[in-house]
Amino acid sequence: MSRKRIVAGNWKMNTTLEEAHALASEVARGAGEEVDLVLIPPTCFLATVLDATASSAVSVGAQNMHPAASGAFTGETSGPMLTSLGAQYVVCGHSERRHVFGESSAFIGEKVSAAHANGLIPILCVGETLEDREAGRTDAVVLDQLEAGLQGLESSQIPGTVIAYEPVWAIGTGRTASPEQAQEVHASIRARLAERFGGEIAGRVRIQYGGSVKPGNAAELLGQPDIDGALVGGASLVASSFLAIADA
Ligand code: PEP
Repeated sequence: MSRKRIVAGNWKMNTTLEEAHALASEVARGAGEEVDLVLIPPTCFLATVLDATASSAVSVGAQNMHPAASGAFTGETSGPMLTSLGAQYVVCGHSERRHVFGESSAFIGEKVSAAHANGLIPILCVGETLEDREAGRTDAVVLDQLEAGLQGLESSQIPGTVIAYEPVWAIGTGRTASPEQAQEVHASIRARLAERFGGEIAGRVRIQYGGSVKPGNAAELLGQPDIDGALVGGASLVASSFLAIADA
């Protein structure tokens, strides 16, 4: 089953307006079409990044959204807002949302459903903490997050959902899961998708790895059979590094 690779750059809470425009322009100039490239800037710079990438193969996504379409949710951004800007993707349940902002798996599942309802492609993040891994709970934690994240979806929406496996202990730490460790969890995720939705659908879902991906380790990670791309944090803030990961 061939799946188009997807490499996404999560800029987190970094860049100014000028830096966002310059970084997006540089990525757009270097982007090819063999891999889906997605830039995920801070929400306040979505418009400028959309503008800078308008005539390129690069897509743009948001780092987060609220499940409600509108209302009294100060500081939040809704699906219809993102769609009206021209965003195509939205990250749901990044580990910083789960662990720093206390978002529950059920709330993240609502976001994933709302993303689809608004024509956005959700990137559902799942991943275990170091404590979970050391206690032998990796699969249990990751698969629970997966089930809760996909809970409100129809089978037909599963192939249009991207999953990002991001071990919490590897995010922003310089520690990377070994290709074998990552492949093992990716295979468990795909096996669970096959159990729930059938092998044909599971075979179409793209599963990214995230956690200190860099140009030097990307080829080996992305060479694993169930790793279909990368969700990149730190290294996506330098255009040449991000493009080198896509090349790998
Ligand atoms: C991330 O933010 O999703 C991430 C994986 O960060 P980093 O690449 O910096 O570990």
